[in-house]
Amino acid sequence: MERKQKRSTLKGGYLIRFDDIAPNMNWEGYFRVKRLFQKFEVRPLLGVIPKNRDPELTSIPQYRADFWDEIRRVQSLDWEIAMHGYQHVYDSFGKDFLGIRTRSEFAGHDLDTQLNRLKYAKAIFDRERVKVDVFFAPSHTFDENTLHALKAIGITSISDGYSLFPLNDHGILFVPQLLGRPVAFPFGVYTSCHHLNYFRESDFLMLERFVERNHSRILTYSQALELVKDGLWNRSAGELLKIVLRTKREVGRVLDRYRQRRLYGSAPR
Ligand SMILES: [Zn+2]
Repeated sequence: MERKQKRSTLKGGYLIRFDDIAPNMNWEGYFRVKRLFQKFEVRPLLGVIPKNRDPELTSIPQYRADFWDEIRRVQSLDWEIAMHGYQHVYDSFGKDFLGIRTRSEFAGHDLDTQLNRLKYAKAIFDRERVKVDVFFAPSHTFDENTLHALKAIGITSISDGYSLFPLNDHGILFVPQLLGRPVAFPFGVYTSCHHLNYFRESDFLMLERFVERNHSRILTYSQALELVKDGLWNRSAGELLKIVLRTKREVGRVLDRYRQRRLYGSAPR
């Protein structure tokens, strides 16, 4: 018991985030992880696409019951909801805020276009009575215009970026998101992000093991926000992590493109 208390007082912890939450998705997988989270009293962050028009995602079978009822239900269990873009459609190509050049729903568009999309997105959450204070962009792609537009609609936090602990930048609270997989991290706030639509049995088992072992250190998004560290050391560690992970991501992208060409004879969307 004493040991457990010591662990929970360590600075930092884990956050679990799910991307691409929309009417069309892997609902069987969703309810499997929901049971796991309820058993261990874990409250993840759900990245909801308010008006999903991504052809890759809309080809997945649709939820049979009311999507927004389920979102309101988990919200009442203190799961937090993030705005994950507007339509999840990539129609721009620009350099994002973190320096990676890729397709985007936001980065590269002018301020008005971005603001309109975010206003439409926010109006859907408002209409459905879902509280949303957090944003993260499809494919991590956003730029300075996105930050201005987010502030204009009252969203002041982004689940993305490179640092050990959350930090303030451009008037936005960034909660770092470094890698997809859940891995043990002794220090800092570590967000693992998960895509249920691509989950295999091994992914479920990995997540289940991680939750069983670490549930006492799994935070809600609001708890993570209380751990903001604006010291230079947090920023410097972030810059270093950015270089390492950007290199890793670029290598991954090149490999993905190569695999896609071999499979379909074309570059990925
Ligand atoms: Zn996404």
